[in-house]
Amino acid sequence: MLIVKKFGGTSVADKEKIFNVANRCAEDYKAGHDVIVVLSAMGKQTDYLLDLAREINPKAPKRELDMLLTTGEQTSVALMAMALHALGVPAISLNAFQVDMRTNSTYGNAKIKRIDTDRINRELEMRKVVIITGFQGVNRYEDYTTLGRGGSDTTAVAIASALHADKCEIYTDVDGVYTADPRIVADASKMSEITYDEMLELASLGAGVLHNRSVEMAKKYGVPLVVRSSLNNSEGTVVKEEVKMEKLAVRGVVSDKNTARISVIGLKDIPGVAFKLFNHLARYDINVDIILQSIGRDGTKDISFTVSKDNVDEAIEIIERHRTGSLQYQKIDVEKSVAKVSIVGAGMNTHAGVAAKMFEALYDVGVNIKMISTSEIRVTVLIDDEYVEKAVKAVHDKFALSEHH
Ligand code: ADP
Ligand code: ASP
Ligand code: MG
Repeated sequence: MLIVKKFGGTSVADKEKIFNVANRCAEDYKAGHDVIVVLSAMGKQTDYLLDLAREINPKAPKRELDMLLTTGEQTSVALMAMALHALGVPAISLNAFQVDMRTNSTYGNAKIKRIDTDRINRELEMRKVVIITGFQGVNRYEDYTTLGRGGSDTTAVAIASALHADKCEIYTDVDGVYTADPRIVADASKMSEITYDEMLELASLGAGVLHNRSVEMAKKYGVPLVVRSSLNNSEGTVVKEEVKMEKLAVRGVVSDKNTARISVIGLKDIPGVAFKLFNHLARYDINVDIILQSIGRDGTKDISFTVSKDNVDEAIEIIERHRTGSLQYQKIDVEKSVAKVSIVGAGMNTHAGVAAKMFEALYDVGVNIKMISTSEIRVTVLIDDEYVEKAVKAVHDKFALSEHH
């Protein structure tokens, strides 16, 4: 059997943890399996490197940031190979250049395009455990790129898919995917399984447990995923196409503080304005989330939308640049201390009153809703970020999610 095992930062944070992982991998290896290990940087190394960069130059070139960040993963894979050697298991560490993991050229948020499987296969044939740097790739300029925060999950799924692995296991510091972030809701319950679609929504809406692109890729290539703890042997959560249980109206609650609201006020109320506004942003790879447009009055209208906090300053700059050209407006209003709270569930569209119930939960705890957006399988609201924990708990309670699953 070919097994891809991915371990996150907390799972390789120190010497003991590295040996814990090495032992788990050695077990599979000794049972006769082919083992590929994908690692994140140790502990909070990526945050540490980003802080360092910010001190030197808050507007550091993105290419240089990636050059810096990729060192984190390079450190952990080399140490893991050494640990396996210490246990008497042949192992080799490889970085993105060595496996020829190609991405597009977007530094900081690159997409994997293809992976050369030759080198990996050759090492596996020599009965080595192959340890690969997560989160990084190489673009057509022969430069390092990174896949976005949490991107090691995506590396693991991409490798599992390219090599047709039998299993792709994502090991982390919680026992699986919960009905809410267990750090916010202490009595959240672990799900034994979840569909790709539901997981994709949860991940995209802020459940950091899986990188959203890893879920997208797992769905596209039919890679069955398991999310489980690196510290115990409990079963974890299986992410797959269909789950056995009935479709629950709401499966999970998720929040995201990495968001900000921008309102462009006093735009002309004529055709093409929304197109121009969002097209300018799209050209700079700025993702826009909840969008709200006011009814036109006196020939003007307002458009509000959310972007991630890292994009907000750039988004404003772009809009201001077009103020006297294609976008004419009166002013921009920005709010950074906001957060999204969402509920997700594949059965939502067949259960009436789900959104109302969520709004009631927020009303119960006196939380004001600033914006609302819905899809077939989710409802998202924008609120003041200071109320996030309170709101998530209230909504989780309202849907009695601790008792299901
Ligand atoms: P790793 O370093 O292993 O990749 P992450 O910090 O990226 O770990 O992801 C694990 C964390 O995700 C958990 O510690 C947990 O706080 C958080 N998390 C957020 N939402 C959820 C959820 N619904 N289920 C489980 N964990 C969640
Ligand atoms: N080390 C990277 C990060 O902290 C990638 C990952 O952990 O998946 O975002
Ligand atoms: Mg992660």
